[in-house]
Amino acid sequence: MSKKTSSVNAATGAYQRAVELLGLKPNIARALEMPDRELTVEVPFRRDNGEVMSLLGFRVQHNNTRGPFKGGIRYHHHVDLAEVRALASLMTWKTALLDIPYGGGKGGIAIDPSKFSVHELERLSRKFFRAIDPVIGPNIDIPAPDVNTNAQVMGWFMDEYSQAHGYTPAIVTGKPLELGGSEGREHATGKGTAITVRETANKNDVALDKSTVVIQGFGNVGSFTAKFLDEYGCKIVGVSDVTGGIHEPDGLEISSLFDHNYKNRTIDGCGQGKNITNDELLTLECDFLIPAALGGAINKENADALNCRFVIEAANGPVTPKAAETLWEKSVPVIPDILTNAGGVTVSYFEWVQNLQQFKWELEDVDTKLETKMVKAFQEVYNIKVEKKVPMRIASFMVAIDRVARSFQLRGV
Ligand code: NAD
Repeated sequence: MSKKTSSVNAATGAYQRAVELLGLKPNIARALEMPDRELTVEVPFRRDNGEVMSLLGFRVQHNNTRGPFKGGIRYHHHVDLAEVRALASLMTWKTALLDIPYGGGKGGIAIDPSKFSVHELERLSRKFFRAIDPVIGPNIDIPAPDVNTNAQVMGWFMDEYSQAHGYTPAIVTGKPLELGGSEGREHATGKGTAITVRETANKNDVALDKSTVVIQGFGNVGSFTAKFLDEYGCKIVGVSDVTGGIHEPDGLEISSLFDHNYKNRTIDGCGQGKNITNDELLTLECDFLIPAALGGAINKENADALNCRFVIEAANGPVTPKAAETLWEKSVPVIPDILTNAGGVTVSYFEWVQNLQQFKWELEDVDTKLETKMVKAFQEVYNIKVEKKVPMRIASFMVAIDRVARSFQLRGV
């Protein structure tokens, strides 16, 4: 199942259930569900051979009740308005859940960036940012990296905006450190995921130093999650990436694996563990299974075969709604994406604050503040889960929607 389908369905179902449990009036529920604005732009740009090519780009601004719209811009050939719309709403709930003063947005261009040169991508990125200029601003809408966009693309965006409006690093987050990026942003999502695992262990009397972990995906999120969990004393018994997986029941040596992967951008050839497939990896016995690669990785075909005590959703939408039902019946708690992977947007917010203050924080400040935010959000969700006897996903949506709905009503329509 595609990422699009899984995250859209999971979010829609959870939103509706949470709204019912909160007793939200239907007119308020509808106002909060629908996006505030959807912009579609045509982006012509010149290819290296002189030809002009034109692509569709999108920016969806879902809700700005609690602050400027906030969310990434992705480059992927599957991008369409429906996907961007669903992802924009997830950002509203994620920022509200972490109590960050932002709303939610998302953008994208329907392109396979691997088929274009760096110069072509730069020209395209600049033209796209110019096209959405009328609806963005450091207090209006603040984009960030997402699938296939990175710090370099943010640098081009920042430069393009600054040429028109004066030096404005706060227009995007996820920038290179040299252009106002934040210390700690690179590892933020992995660190937040590791904190989520630790809090889950604490609430369920699982000793972290005796626990076992399996991670699917060893990119930015998966590799840093492994690094921090290793520091907590967890035994990482299996990891994978797009090339396949490795299994070592005695525990992988994470420090050398991390370095190998950082250098080669793959775990392939690391010389550790027994080679297994990604399907086999998901069914390994462990305490914490952490899908950190794709949407829909855990679905109705494989959910019943899982052999873990907890699923920690580090990727966006890795557990489909049908799989979530199966796991609920098997009493396997799922800690949802909008909580688990919120470390990234939290440190993006810290980056924006530093840009507005024109004052750089030390790494320790960033990490401490991230820790505080993650632990507080986890506790709030956990309290609702216990009080209302609902899964953590529904509890997360309840906390988030309640926060937005209160602000919405206080601001007045
Ligand atoms: P990444 O591109 O750095 O890494 C992705 C990893 O997944 C790579 O190791 C890749 O080899 C692996 N992978 C790809 N296809 C696979 C497959 N079919 N089977 C197994 N592994 C596969 O991406 P990332 O930044 O680590 O993001 C991972 C997930 O986390 C995505 O769903 C992303 O949307 C989500 N996320 C990321 C951040 C962030 O700050 N990076 C924040 C929130 C959510």
